This record gives sequence, C-alpha cells and structure tokens, in this order.
Amino acid sequence: MSNCIFCRIVEGRIPAKILHQDDKTLVFEDINPQAPVHLLVIPKRHVASVHDCQQADELLMGHLLLTCAKVAAMKDVAASGYRVVTNVGADSGQTVFHLHLHVLGGRHLAWPPG
Ligand code: 5GP
Ligand code: ZN
Repeated sequence: MSNCIFCRIVEGRIPAKILHQDDKTLVFEDINPQAPVHLLVIPKRHVASVHDCQQADELLMGHLLLTCAKVAAMKDVAASGYRVVTNVGADSGQTVFHLHLHVLGGRHLAWPPG
C-alpha cells in the first residue's frame, strides 16, 4: 500500500534501523522508543491489524510471535523479561494501520497498561 508508512519501510523507501528480516517479516527499532528495547515486528505483506487477519494467516501470526522471541534474545532481554503487545483500533491507541507487534524490554514495565 503506497500510503502506508510501514509498507514504505518494507520497500526501503523510508529508512529504518532494521535488526532482522526474513521472507515474511521485518523487525526494526521504533522511532519513538518507550523502553531501552522497543522493536516493531511486522509482516512484509500489508495487513491492517490482528483483527484483519484470516484463517490463512495462522502460520504467519505464529511466525510473528516466534520472531518476537528471537529478536528479544538478540537484544538480551530474554532473561530479564519483555512485553509483546499489539494495538487494535481506536481505543487501543493504534496509530499505524499495518499490523505490528511491539517488543518492549530493558526496564520494568508496569501493569495494567494505561
Ligand atoms: P501503534 O500506536 O500503532 O501501536 O504503534 C505505532 C508505532 O510506530 C509507534 O510506537 C511509533 O513510534 C512507531 N512509528 C511511527 N512511524 C514510524 C516510522 O516512520 N519509523 C519507525 N521506526 N517507527 C515509527
Ligand atoms: Zn502497510
């Protein structure tokens, strides 16, 4: 999607600090980090949110979660702990409508979220 900022990052038209990628996923640093480690794990194919995934996306969604674990280990927060979160729609505060999993770590994360 030409008007989607994360599709533009996938296409290399907008720069990003890329940590990891494979044929289906891209992982890069959040431009406005909320923790010492704040990564965004996205599918390379445009999907607006978890709620827009189909049964056919089952493998992709599992792969995204496994990728979160992989990059958390790469950033050395596996032992200390980290959070994986994805916002869906207005009440959640979703601002970019291309599915992304936030991986946050490197500090204590309060619960419940605001
Ligand atoms: P959301 O609020 O939709 O769950 O999260 C969107 C995230 O994308 C925010 O944490 C925001 O800082 C990040 N973001 C927005 N635009 C860009 C960008 O151009 N580059 C990067 N690396 N992150 C972005
Ligand atoms: Zn997109």
